[in-house]
Amino acid sequence: MELLKKRILQDGRCFEGGILKVDSFINHQMDPGLMKAMAVEFVRRFASTPVNKVMTIEASGIAPAIMVGFLLDLPVVFAKKKSPKTMRNALTTTVHSFTKDRDYEICISHDFLTSDDHILFIDDFLAHGNAAFGALELIEQAGATLEGMGFIIEKAFQGGSQRLKQKNVHVESLAVIESLDHCIIRFKE
Ligand code: 5GP
Repeated sequence: MELLKKRILQDGRCFEGGILKVDSFINHQMDPGLMKAMAVEFVRRFASTPVNKVMTIEASGIAPAIMVGFLLDLPVVFAKKKSPKTMRNALTTTVHSFTKDRDYEICISHDFLTSDDHILFIDDFLAHGNAAFGALELIEQAGATLEGMGFIIEKAFQGGSQRLKQKNVHVESLAVIESLDHCIIRFKE
């Protein structure tokens, strides 16, 4: 998606260890116009996929997911990073965060993720795929069906996409970064 790639080159900032900051337009301050354009592109790419619910993980996935849910007129559910005491029928799993170098729990109520659900999962980044595999684990625990996964930015050099495709997951990424070596952003053509 050219608009997104241009914006990443203009406003993205690269850090040691293969981390890209996009906090001025995606995951801290947000650009709603760009968010909408990205959601339109996700809807186009998953047009032939039968979906009845959009799922993400808090916090950065919520904005793009709700835009997609709005366009598709579907409910959006997000996995929480802390299990509230009041959550009924919680399904939980552990995810390793590579940016924070620690494990954390994600949970979702079985009330909102059921065996009737056909899920489109949306998130901001795909790196090693740990968050995505955590979401997949919750989907499997619920007996739901994963229909596809859409990411705003994929860092191909961290292998998450390959791992997901090995499990036959339909993955769509709006901007695929081949390398951040020497803090130079190189896109995959
Ligand atoms: P994964 O689980 O695929 O290794 O990483 C995905 C999660 O880690 C995303 O949900 C995102 O929040 C965070 N993440 C991974 N790489 C980056 C990055 O380069 N920049 C930012 N801002 N977040 C990242």
